[in-house]
Amino acid sequence: MFIRTAEEIASGMFARSLKCVRCGKEYPLKKFYKCPSCGGVLDVKYDYVKLADEVDLRSLFSKRGLNLWKYIDFLPIRKSSEIVSLGEGMTPLLKAERLGESLKVKSLYLKDETRNPTSSFKDRPYTVGVSKAKEFGVKAAVVASAGNAAASLAAYSARAGIKCYVFVSENVPAHRLLEIQAYGAEVIRVKQVPDGVFRITVSASEKFGWYNLTTSFYNPYTVEGDKTIAYEIYEQMGFEVPDWVIIPVGVGPLLVGCYKGFNELRNLGLVNEVPKMVGVQSEGCAPIAKAFEENRSEVEPWKGELKTVARSIVNTLQEYPDEGTYTLQIIRRSKGWALAVSDDEILRAMDDLATAEGILAEPASATVIAALRRLL
Ligand SMILES: [Zn+2]
Repeated sequence: MFIRTAEEIASGMFARSLKCVRCGKEYPLKKFYKCPSCGGVLDVKYDYVKLADEVDLRSLFSKRGLNLWKYIDFLPIRKSSEIVSLGEGMTPLLKAERLGESLKVKSLYLKDETRNPTSSFKDRPYTVGVSKAKEFGVKAAVVASAGNAAASLAAYSARAGIKCYVFVSENVPAHRLLEIQAYGAEVIRVKQVPDGVFRITVSASEKFGWYNLTTSFYNPYTVEGDKTIAYEIYEQMGFEVPDWVIIPVGVGPLLVGCYKGFNELRNLGLVNEVPKMVGVQSEGCAPIAKAFEENRSEVEPWKGELKTVARSIVNTLQEYPDEGTYTLQIIRRSKGWALAVSDDEILRAMDDLATAEGILAEPASATVIAALRRLL
């Protein structure tokens, strides 16, 4: 089924609808969040036949690009005039010679996402999400986050000239909010447990019309930005894809988006295989890894004490365990793995990355090397 407005068809955009991953219902590319019918995650669908027919894919992927918007044909944006960009994407893929040698891995590559405009991969989902906000004509964006996501959304909102509201729990230290506030975002402290803050953004979004860009799977457009990382890896590896991709996971949109990008390359006949996706969590909060290890079909919210150095990937999934289940399903579909690593392993991995490769990673990012050491 094709649900595109006359304007979208005229614009040449290849995105055609939003489809629920649970019940299969399709919706037009409007301001939807979860499936209005069943509450499932919505996924952007494209007309790949038309795309392959009209776009010279070989030259697209060979062409030099300054940022990820060279992939606009794979993104749900109608016009280039609606793009809100700070020059994100096209981050280096570094071969880790020394670390690879010490771990006895012949081809180990690191995708350095700190080179994005606000120093995290969150700029990928937000360049797309805020561009959609501009297209929808909203006056404000809202997010539940006190970390990389909030800083990124604050920056892109400033760039778009829209207001940004950031909801955080009352116990977040003031120094963690300085970068967010520097971009002019308004921080609102609420008396809630960390995950409870999300529910408030939903209410505020419904009441005031603010565009909710919390980077779970709540907003269906942001994951599309995440998938561009797969195209870049494909290009940077000389039009091949790795056997395994290891990604830190809180809820999992980066892992799911990355898998979607690789799948698109396979469906378009550009590669034969899709990498196995590994999701890494910290032992201090590991609802998805726990469900994987216990061979359960559904992820349950994390009940244990939250104690870890890898703060950026802490998410108990208390308010949206179904989204963790979706990530778990994708990991299994890719024939991948989910696991949790300890703080000691993470700190050792940070040291390895810095001393062997010159990369000072935050703890959540270093989990991937800790996971690799476990998997070997
Ligand atoms: Zn549904």
